[in-house]
Amino acid sequence: MTASLASARACLSSVFGFDSFRPGQEDIITPILAGEDVLAIMPTGAGKSLCYQLPAIIGDGLTVVVSPLIALMRDQVAQMTNYGVAAAAMNSANDSDESRRVFDLIRRRELKLLYLAPERLARSETVDFLRRSGTARLAIDEAHCVSQWGHDFRPEYLALGEFRRALGQVQTIAFTATADAATRADIAERLFDAPPRIFIGGFDRPNLMLAMQAKDSPRRQLLGFLKERKGDSGIIYCSSRAGCEDLAQGLNDAGHRALVYHAGLDKGRRENNQDTFLREDGIVMVATVAFGMGIDKPDVRFVAHADLPKSIEAYYQEIGRAGRDGLPAETLTLYGLGDVRLRRQQIEDSQASDEQKRVERQKLNALLALCEAPRCRRQTLLSYFGETTQPCGHCDLCLNGAQVRDGTVDAQKALSA
Ligand code: ADP
Ligand code: MG
Ligand code: ZN
Repeated sequence: MTASLASARACLSSVFGFDSFRPGQEDIITPILAGEDVLAIMPTGAGKSLCYQLPAIIGDGLTVVVSPLIALMRDQVAQMTNYGVAAAAMNSANDSDESRRVFDLIRRRELKLLYLAPERLARSETVDFLRRSGTARLAIDEAHCVSQWGHDFRPEYLALGEFRRALGQVQTIAFTATADAATRADIAERLFDAPPRIFIGGFDRPNLMLAMQAKDSPRRQLLGFLKERKGDSGIIYCSSRAGCEDLAQGLNDAGHRALVYHAGLDKGRRENNQDTFLREDGIVMVATVAFGMGIDKPDVRFVAHADLPKSIEAYYQEIGRAGRDGLPAETLTLYGLGDVRLRRQQIEDSQASDEQKRVERQKLNALLALCEAPRCRRQTLLSYFGETTQPCGHCDLCLNGAQVRDGTVDAQKALSA
């Protein structure tokens, strides 16, 4: 073990109080400690923050962290301070006393971690000051915000390239959970002068069983899926409000306990349904994608899609709400010709640029390729995120082989129509 790895492990237990690294963390931290530029792609909750906090703590000099969310900065500064690490934030919430205190700490070279709001990047006095104060490395959290292909583009992030050059080419490390190839390449190009070392990992959720079916009679298919899952909590996503109401009614008629959640309900009813779902067991939440953000219910045992999700990223995020407790959980996604037509139409009708539409069409194609995958579904899914694995042995395709297409749905044909 190298000296730096030994001190990384010591820091992990003495500062953070953790016994071991999560999968991938050590592989990311090692090149960072060696001074390399790194782009790390790991799913939400994998532990990306520690990958820049730990090198900041044991390395020399100041680490500047660019992060788009003030609330998140505040939490991390509080946590680091609590661990005894000198950390501070510079954002629009600072008053002038606070700003002066932070500047003094940096001037005295006492600060280890500075969280910087993206709108500060373009301020020349901030940049000059940070250059003169010996910034050692730049960490960019939520790096997909720099890409117009990502779902969360922030124009202020475009100033990062200039900021970095103004600092004098400091070591740059970037982190994101968004990983499709187009976004990845775009991030690498915008944030780095030379190709960084790219690390992709942690996307596999082995306890989630993956299955997809061509849609023929959705209610019958979903009732069949629910039959062996009575008493379990789960979510069924529908693309429309009317679809939610209709399906929930059908499930209730068949003796399930279904509730609905969509933006058409008044706030009180929405909150009520959500609370009931969180508190009680055995409720099927029939919802649009408005449901699920920030919901932390560890024992969701299944997630189904009555309609095709928007993209592979959306699919991954939505099924990812099942089985957070690590116990087995089931998923089923239905896809039909109508879904594909609707999605195509939405793309064509949107206000997006031609280039963006082209990317959206590609994303839809990738999703359809996953629906009609000839081999292990998990392998196909993970390869979209850039991760290579062996066939899993327990997805629908590993268990039953590829479905024989009956001609009712031929998504590729629909696409070229
Ligand atoms: P991400 O940014 O990848 O979504 P976070 O950095 O917010 O994830 O980390 C998610 C959670 O995992 C945090 O509560 C963090 O403290 C915890 N965590 C990170 N690394 C470890 C570890 N090695 N051992 C245990 N918990 C960890
Ligand atoms: Mg994070
Ligand atoms: Zn498989």
